[in-house]
Amino acid sequence: MPDGVTALEKLGITFKPEECHPFEGVRFFADGVAADASFPSNCGLGVRRTTLHRVMIERAASMGVDFLWRTPVTGISPNEVSLGERTVSAKWIIGADGAKSRVRRWARLDRVRKKNSRFAFRQHYRVAPWTNRMEIYWGQLSHIYVAPVTAEEMCVVLVSRDSWLRLEEALPTFPELQSRLGQAEIVSSERGTITATCNLERVSGNNVALIGDASGTVDAITKSQTEIVVSPKA
Ligand SMILES: Cc1cc2nc3c(=O)[nH]c(=O)nc-3n(C[C@H](O)[C@H](O)[C@H](O)COP(=O)(O)OP(=O)(O)OC[C@H]3O[C@@H](n4cnc5c(N)ncnc54)[C@H](O)[C@@H]3O)c2cc1C
Repeated sequence: MPDGVTALEKLGITFKPEECHPFEGVRFFADGVAADASFPSNCGLGVRRTTLHRVMIERAASMGVDFLWRTPVTGISPNEVSLGERTVSAKWIIGADGAKSRVRRWARLDRVRKKNSRFAFRQHYRVAPWTNRMEIYWGQLSHIYVAPVTAEEMCVVLVSRDSWLRLEEALPTFPELQSRLGQAEIVSSERGTITATCNLERVSGNNVALIGDASGTVDAITKSQTEIVVSPKA
């Protein structure tokens, strides 16, 4: 989203034109009605997660960050992080270890106010973006969002509460999107996971702070279906 792009730019992280694709707003579809808005300024940027990951690592490495790959953190104490047999002293500890964060548990920050679990599966299609928007299609039992990731590839993400539901079964319930994708070549295998939005009582304590999915998550784009109303006047 535009704020994320700006935040990345402030960190000196940018993308080559061929490894991303801009979009100028968001369009929602539900029950034959569309609601649409442009971002007030700047564009969002569609980019493959693998590209984002690589570019962020390159930038961090160029700034002198030391990466210890395949080195799980096994515990924390007030001023130390344990890496198996080895320890590293730490004035501040940032828990960026994802939705099932162990740092969160170790720091006793895992008291949850509200939790909402869904399943998300994504697949990439070789097709040129047909719109300058990212699109969200709402259905009765699932929703699908579509974002360009390059000038010739779209990422299609299915979100539902049904762990068995996959794009192949869900797409026919969104005929407009299905016809857009047409016979487009599928260029990645379908992959997904449980995706929990959760609201923690606290995200920091003593010298530990949580970020990213470890700190709970807010889905800025596809909040639960009951929280979004598409107005016919929109
Ligand atoms: C299908 C799908 C589509 C999505 N689409 C979007 C999207 O379009 N836009 C968007 O913004 N978000 C999207 N998300 C959400 C997004 O992927 C997550 O919010 C994001 O990856 C969270 O990043 P993170 O770094 O906090 O956690 P993670 O990406 O989970 O990274 C945590 C890292 O910590 C490591 N780790 C865990 N425990 C330890 C340990 N003990 N020691 C050392 N390392 C450890 C893990 O190996 C992992 O590398 C999507 C999610 C799914 C499932």
